[in-house]
Amino acid sequence: MRVGIGSDVHPIEPGRPCWMAGLLFPDDDGCAGHSDGDVAAHALCDALLSAAGLGDVGAVFGTGRPEWANVSGAAMLTEVRRLLDDAGFAVANAAVQVIGNRPKIGPRRAEAQKVLGELLDAPVSVSGTTTDGLGLTGRGEGIAAVATALLGPRRTDGTG
Ligand code: MG
Repeated sequence: MRVGIGSDVHPIEPGRPCWMAGLLFPDDDGCAGHSDGDVAAHALCDALLSAAGLGDVGAVFGTGRPEWANVSGAAMLTEVRRLLDDAGFAVANAAVQVIGNRPKIGPRRAEAQKVLGELLDAPVSVSGTTTDGLGLTGRGEGIAAVATALLGPRRTDGTG
């Protein structure tokens, strides 16, 4: 088994669609960024790459690979899962925490866990927290996320 960590922070851009943990939150402002600004998906990608020893999001999807500009967090997770499979790993489980005032994760936790769990073919826990008004997330300037992932050997029964 191999464990990995990941984190991400993006500034909020008023009027931008808010994609978070694989879901669209239509009533919230989203994050600026090289892709769709889904910091939860990006932190998960980093945790998965970290666990596999395959580098980080910047190396795999960075500005040096313009074909990955503006892709969804879901597409990035799908590509990371392919890289893990090529490297002989399967996801055992993963967890991600979104840090910010909005969007509110709790009411859509089950939905987010289902979407991310299907992308990774493994249980994914999604949680949210705030920083009590402190710092860039507390002032509503940005959204952060932290994630962990646990990998095991690739399954050989054809299920992933
Ligand atoms: Mg990012």
